[in-house]
Amino acid sequence: MSIFSKYDGLAQSLAAVTADGGRNPFAVVIDRPLSSTVGLIEGRETLLFGTNNYLGLSQSEAAIEAAIAAARTHGVGTTGSRIANGTQGLHRQLEERIAAYFQRRHCMVFSTGYQANLGMISALAGKDDYLLLDADSHASIYDGSRLGHAQVIRFRHNDPEDLRKRLRRLDGTPGAKLIVVEGIYSMMGDVVPMAEFAAVKREAGAWLLADEAHSFGVMGAHGRGVAEADGVEGDVDFVVGTFSKSLGTVGGYCVSDHDGLDLIRLCSRPYMFTASLPPEIIAATMAALDEMGRRPELRHTLMDNARRLHAGLNAAGLRTGPQASPVVSVILDEVDQAVRFWNRLLDLGVYVNLSLPPATPDQHPLLRTSVMATHTPAQIDRAVDIFATVAREFGLMRPAAASA
Ligand code: PMP
Repeated sequence: MSIFSKYDGLAQSLAAVTADGGRNPFAVVIDRPLSSTVGLIEGRETLLFGTNNYLGLSQSEAAIEAAIAAARTHGVGTTGSRIANGTQGLHRQLEERIAAYFQRRHCMVFSTGYQANLGMISALAGKDDYLLLDADSHASIYDGSRLGHAQVIRFRHNDPEDLRKRLRRLDGTPGAKLIVVEGIYSMMGDVVPMAEFAAVKREAGAWLLADEAHSFGVMGAHGRGVAEADGVEGDVDFVVGTFSKSLGTVGGYCVSDHDGLDLIRLCSRPYMFTASLPPEIIAATMAALDEMGRRPELRHTLMDNARRLHAGLNAAGLRTGPQASPVVSVILDEVDQAVRFWNRLLDLGVYVNLSLPPATPDQHPLLRTSVMATHTPAQIDRAVDIFATVAREFGLMRPAAASA
């Protein structure tokens, strides 16, 4: 028997997706970016609406120059883990800079955001503890719960009341209770009611970890995320995030005021047993962080663009989530239709993400878009026009929009 036979079902699903000459949506090649908003795909200039590059900083001149300079002085790799092979001065600098940005006492950086969740969640919640996870949590949060030994309890997505009920059932149990929420949810772009979760956390004497991967650099007066926007940073014990979205590089972090964070370095396997961030990425990340701090207007333009895209798609008769946020997903009913829609968008010059069940909430296929501060209004309007054209081709316009 083939070792791959357990994936026969998967192979069939992929064959169905690529039937009739359709592309493999999970193997799109962006030959090269021409700017933060336009890439060369299949030899054509294509509008990028699916990169999570919210502030456009992957193409920051300052970050590029910093990376080149750091590679010249430090080389291109660290060739090992910090625990086994040593911390470099640049790691320390980056941790100090991130801690200062968040006005927290401690910071630990990881090689990716995925590893930051894996490493923090598995190490914080031990076998006598309870992990309370939002049902729509990112894979890295679920995987972190599997790597650890805590008892896992899921609560209804974005529902503090459901969490409250579940915590009450744990009254009197000795273990620590760690609640995990995200700032902006990556599939639908919906925002966590952080202040309400903070109130539940206080009531229950629990701990709160917020993954601000999609909200860092996006929400809050200084871009510190939803906790800052809601004025409840003091209630969030651990903020986890990534450099791979608003900062345009790669890497993850956790910031906290708890002194115990330093101990996690010695018991978090995804921190200990992998190579640390390389110098050029650290330098680029610090330069991007500077730029993000210097240019708050990027955040404001991003939110203006998010509102423009959200309103445009809705006016075109498409169904999206309720909130305008930098992640705007068009909700469809049938996988087959979503695959064909996605292919047509790419034919017409717009790249978005195809997200399929079971990775999506409520088992709906999604055309997931992410908007950038660097998109021009004309680029957004062009993308909306192309969405509307394809929706018309597929007979998907809602009646009011179709007759408009
Ligand atoms: N958390 C969330 C909510 C995410 O959406 C992602 C990435 N999509 C991550 C963590 C992982 O971040 P990274 O890509 O840096 O590994």
